[in-house]
Amino acid sequence: MIPGPTPVPETVLKAMGRHPIGHRSGEFQAVVRRTTEQLRWLHQTQADVLVITGSGTAAMEAGIINTLSRGDKVICGDNGKFGERWVKLAKAYGLDVQVVKADWGQPLDPEAFRTALAADTDKKIKAIILTHSETSTGVINDLETISQYVRAHGTALTIADCVTSLGACNVPMDSWGIDVVASGSQKGYMMPPGLSFVAMSERAWQAHKRSDLPKFYLDLGPYQKTAAQDSNPFTPAVNLYFALESALTMMQAEGLDAIFERHARHRAAAQAAMKAIGLPLYAAEGHGSPAITAVAPEGIDAELLRKTVKEQFDILLAGGQDHLKGKVFRIGHLGFVCDRDVLTAVAAIESTLQSLGLHKGNMGAGIAAAAAAMN
Ligand SMILES: *Cc1c(COP(=O)(O)O)cnc(C)c1O
Repeated sequence: MIPGPTPVPETVLKAMGRHPIGHRSGEFQAVVRRTTEQLRWLHQTQADVLVITGSGTAAMEAGIINTLSRGDKVICGDNGKFGERWVKLAKAYGLDVQVVKADWGQPLDPEAFRTALAADTDKKIKAIILTHSETSTGVINDLETISQYVRAHGTALTIADCVTSLGACNVPMDSWGIDVVASGSQKGYMMPPGLSFVAMSERAWQAHKRSDLPKFYLDLGPYQKTAAQDSNPFTPAVNLYFALESALTMMQAEGLDAIFERHARHRAAAQAAMKAIGLPLYAAEGHGSPAITAVAPEGIDAELLRKTVKEQFDILLAGGQDHLKGKVFRIGHLGFVCDRDVLTAVAAIESTLQSLGLHKGNMGAGIAAAAAAMN
């Protein structure tokens, strides 16, 4: 129950467990052709969705270096660990970074972006860069509204880390007008780590022509060219492509609406359960991520709770990052997670609190609230 690597279905594991095939073979081209269409379905886009061998950060880095140039002014949203990563990445490439911050646990304020964009009459801002679902704090940012403001600006791009929102909630790239969407296989895709995905709008490709940041392995030009021939510029992780096709086929059978509804249901259940046993949520009310629920159990050592849940029930919860270590634990409900998994995790947390003498409410109150929220 961590937000990545997430559980992988047996079907997907089995699809991977075959001998690799030649990446220039017709058989592999057919896999690339099918997965390309499936990826467009998942992103709700006509744009190119390119596959990189790497973790999610490779897709983030590709998004930056393929659309921007030395000294470009950008605005990064930062309300957690992954917002911080965007800031570090943009600075590493010498971009002129202005940071819009919110406290950890709070969402980014769309008005802050609107004001900065409206004031930019000489069109110096080249991109707004932000995290959709901030995994470190369990907060979902209002990407839809922020990307509307970017559109109104006219020339800036929206570059979004959708690593724990894609496959968990609605991220319609085309209708929201997002220019770059980055994601990774070990999150909502129900796959092992190893592939990352970067979707590029037409406007992002225009920017690619002008972009002068150094790039070679992550230059998306050759990826686009070879994708048109159902191929890749380098040797891709062939077996992970087998997993990708298998996982996306399962996702298509479930349907986007059903997938989003399931994640919303699990968020509601996790939130209701924690409230019922007196453990405060870390994310601001109404801004919880559909992928992960962060809990700040006042007066309880979150690391002791996590360790005990692991020992007694073999369920792994995520810890707090940086200054939140020991203060926060996080329940991942992303990807291949069912109602039973959530109920089991809640029961394990309750039982552990009870055994440590730390249960603040009635034993079973969390399960009752979770079950009610899922009905
Ligand atoms: C997991 C994650 C990433 C990518 O991390 P990698 O370890 O590079 O795969 C990026 N952003 C968010 C919000 C994440 O949760």
